[in-house]
Amino acid sequence: MGWNVHKFGGTSLADAECFRRVAAIVAAQTDARQAVVVSAIGGMTDVLLGLVSAASSQADVAPQLAMLKDRYGGIVGELLGDGGVPLMAQMERDLADVESVLTALALVKSASHRSRDLVAGFGELWSARLLTAVLAAEQRRPVVLIDARDVLRVVQSEMGPVVQWEDSRAALAGSLAADFDGIAVITGFIARTPDGLQTTLGRNGSDFSASIFAALLEAAEVNIWTDVEGVMSGDPRRVPEAAVIREMSYNEAMELAYFGAKVIHPQTMTPAVEHSIPIRIRSTFNPAGEGTWITAAPRSTELVKGVSSIEGIALINLEGSGMIGVPGTADRLFGSLREAGISVVLISQGSSEHSICFAVPVESAQRVKDVVARAFAGELAQGQVQNIDVTPDCAILAVVGDGMAGAPGIAGRFFSTLGRAGINVRAIAQGASERNISAVIAAADATRALRAVHASFYLSAKTVSIGLIGPGSVGGVLLDQLAGEAERLAAEFGVDLRVRAIGGSRRMVLADKRIPLANWREQVENSEPMNLDRFVDHVQADHLPHAVLLDCTADQGIAQRYEDWLGRGIHVITPNKKAHSGSLEYYHRLKALTRASGAQFLYETSVGAGLPVVHTLRDLVDTGDEIYTISGIFSGTLAYLFNVYDGSRPFSSIVADAQSKGYTEPDPRDDLSGMDVARKTVILAREAGLDLELEQLSVQSLVPESLGEGSVEDFLNQLPAHDAAMAAQLKVARAAGQVLRYVGELDLRSGAARVHLASFDAGHAFANISLTDNIVQFVTRRYCDNPLIVRGPGAGPDVTAAGVFADLLRLCGRLGGNGG
Ligand code: ASP
Ligand code: MG
Repeated sequence: MGWNVHKFGGTSLADAECFRRVAAIVAAQTDARQAVVVSAIGGMTDVLLGLVSAASSQADVAPQLAMLKDRYGGIVGELLGDGGVPLMAQMERDLADVESVLTALALVKSASHRSRDLVAGFGELWSARLLTAVLAAEQRRPVVLIDARDVLRVVQSEMGPVVQWEDSRAALAGSLAADFDGIAVITGFIARTPDGLQTTLGRNGSDFSASIFAALLEAAEVNIWTDVEGVMSGDPRRVPEAAVIREMSYNEAMELAYFGAKVIHPQTMTPAVEHSIPIRIRSTFNPAGEGTWITAAPRSTELVKGVSSIEGIALINLEGSGMIGVPGTADRLFGSLREAGISVVLISQGSSEHSICFAVPVESAQRVKDVVARAFAGELAQGQVQNIDVTPDCAILAVVGDGMAGAPGIAGRFFSTLGRAGINVRAIAQGASERNISAVIAAADATRALRAVHASFYLSAKTVSIGLIGPGSVGGVLLDQLAGEAERLAAEFGVDLRVRAIGGSRRMVLADKRIPLANWREQVENSEPMNLDRFVDHVQADHLPHAVLLDCTADQGIAQRYEDWLGRGIHVITPNKKAHSGSLEYYHRLKALTRASGAQFLYETSVGAGLPVVHTLRDLVDTGDEIYTISGIFSGTLAYLFNVYDGSRPFSSIVADAQSKGYTEPDPRDDLSGMDVARKTVILAREAGLDLELEQLSVQSLVPESLGEGSVEDFLNQLPAHDAAMAAQLKVARAAGQVLRYVGELDLRSGAARVHLASFDAGHAFANISLTDNIVQFVTRRYCDNPLIVRGPGAGPDVTAAGVFADLLRLCGRLGGNGG
């Protein structure tokens, strides 16, 4: 059987419970021989190093020493009971050694590297001994402890520790029988120099230890157990949508580590990389999770693996006509920086050679400026170099992925996303490896940039953040419809519909990811007071590519807000007629905003509910047809009243009946006034290109003039007095073989527009509708002899909600890339 290496860091070994968890994980690994590399118990290395500094400045170290003993003693006692006595005896001896070293330090008032390394390394000895004892007590397999100082030989160099492979291999063979079949617990972090002195592999060196032992043992894999699920596609504290990267290459891991994904330190991977040993980042809290596989040849196909940033950057720009075509300028520049020991993190020079800019850590910015000014003193004096600009408060944003090499359009997507998010790019660098594209931006923009770029590469381009206002009858049904279809839409079309906010007139509920729609009603009830500004800000989240507000109210005040929303790039979908049937000036402003911001404003359901009226008309216009007339029955309520009114019952009793059944508005005058039909007529007129104000429309109200004021009850009581007039009109119509219908009519050629009660021949399309049907007739150049007719139920929550839903999908269909 081969070897698997498992490394557990300090946070995985913080207390007794942690040790138990680690022991259980090790026990579960039975498919190979196990090499378990451990760090010190969380925080102990810091305490030990603290002791060294304290001693060299002659501070009292006794309390800290006692604290170490208590902490270790507590964990040992909890895990081993009386069985821990030998471990504590060993620790006492170690602490006595530590104390004598510290006393010596106090005398010489300084600490050498060697004494520091000696003291710092005890933490790993203590934790490894303890884990060995815990495993030995529970395991049937043999468990041995390997003190890495007996095995690892390293030479310290300027670039860090260099492993002496031959010596180390030989030493390992001496410490571990070739046929050993069990668990070897190994101290991380510590090693020995060729002259026999204890040394360390540097802070966080246990990862390096694991990687070295993997190479020595020719292990099949190195598992780095930690407290995160793996390498993330972005910093989860800043990018809420960040996800664990399943598989990545060594190179990608290296790039991401540099850019702040601090799961593994690049150098520590080298031994594993040289032997092509896969490294797996896993969580001790979720041992069943896959974690991240870092390998030589990952099988994943994503072009971009992660989005990351480094903060605390200053951008330096050296500019001058004197540099054009002068060889050696860059050499002098970077040579001077090298001499000053300054590391440059990004370089960019345009081919005009008029300027060179580069990024450095902000702490060194002033020194850089001085160094460069000295190096180019002559040119500065003579004006060949005009200035050295320093821009502090910058961040470098990078996308990383092997797949970007040779894949066109990645840079395009990256920069257009930044552009759409309104983020200014100050400098750009992409290496020829094409594994990383970096942009220098203002530090203040970094989080917004990370989110936008992450969304554009990681989320479906059709991910929509949805806020629904007015969860009443239509809104409520719509939420239920969304709950039922969202999963299918995601699976079949990659449409990711996230209802993240629901707000009524009093309360609202907001969710980061999405509101579970199964019980949205209770959630709204038990939530916070409505605050429309906060609601809208929440919906327009910068980590999601698109935001849409579904206004399911009939509210004038809400309609007044569309201007702000569309201007901000938020799409608006609504059955509410108030905005686009309001003043022409407002209507045109909204249309202009949609053109400028790219936000969509969709209102199919404001005419004929779910019937395809508005977009049928728009298609006719867009394809160059000429509209002659549009007419129709646009009110389900009025359609119903005149369908039922055949003279057998007075008109007033039909109205009263319909009102009590809820077929009319609570106040039937809202239907009978014709204003609802008038608004719809105005909407169609404007859609057809006719600039029509509501006031220009001639509207015949069916509310008798004397009954305009007063309560609903009074109105219904007094309406019978007007039955005779209505009956007379019906009689005239019937005598001519006609029926009465309340219609809206537009003549686009003359501009005439009116809403009135008219009679139609029994054979006319308008005479043959059922119940609450709406019907719209378009007479156009193409549909001239035989008009285009749209007919069907034109009211009711189900069809209206479905119509809003259809608009939402229509919107998604138009969302190309990110933010479009
Ligand atoms: N215990 C050492 C440190 O804290 C090594 C490690 O944890 O990897 O730096
Ligand atoms: Mg419609």
